[in-house]
Amino acid sequence: MVQDPQDARYGEMPQNALDTAGADHLVSIDAMAPLLSALARDHVEGGVPPGGKRGMGSGCPPGAPSPFACPDCGGVLWQPPAGEPLRFECRTGHGFASDSLARVQEERAEEALWAAIRSLEETAAMARRLERRAHEGGSRRTGQRFGERAREHEARAAMLRRLVGAPPPTLPAPGSEPRASPARAARRNGVRRAARG
Ligand SMILES: [Zn+2]
Repeated sequence: MVQDPQDARYGEMPQNALDTAGADHLVSIDAMAPLLSALARDHVEGGVPPGGKRGMGSGCPPGAPSPFACPDCGGVLWQPPAGEPLRFECRTGHGFASDSLARVQEERAEEALWAAIRSLEETAAMARRLERRAHEGGSRRTGQRFGERAREHEARAAMLRRLVGAPPPTLPAPGSEPRASPARAARRNGVRRAARG
């Protein structure tokens, strides 16, 4: 819920909120309190839909805290007392049956692995680029250092790819990447030598 920027004394504040997060309700300041209480009433009267959310701020879920975090908000998930059907809920009101929690956890784990693979491959690609630059600029040792770093990241990424059962990445064709022209490389060397001497 966001105050209508037209209605606000400093319109850019609600406008920023609106631009950043969007809003389900755009209302004047006068309409805010009645709308809030109406929404709260709906939540309580509506109860909890299966697999849905309880009303906000409705206290601790029944049972005891579990070792699991809510995949939606990161809060502690509570599990019901022994003997009741296994269902997890956080304080915010996100609820999961045990099999749907397991499924979401698997999806998140896979997403995290892919994010790690992407990050490692990008880091390796950058190191390869710096390695090439260094060699072109005549800095052999710097080039070797970047080459080692690239190999490390490539090896880790390859290991994770095997773990998720994914094929190796498709590499760009040799020479498809823009390289510095010999003239530009020479100019760079000239500058570097001048700066050093
Ligand atoms: Zn939650």
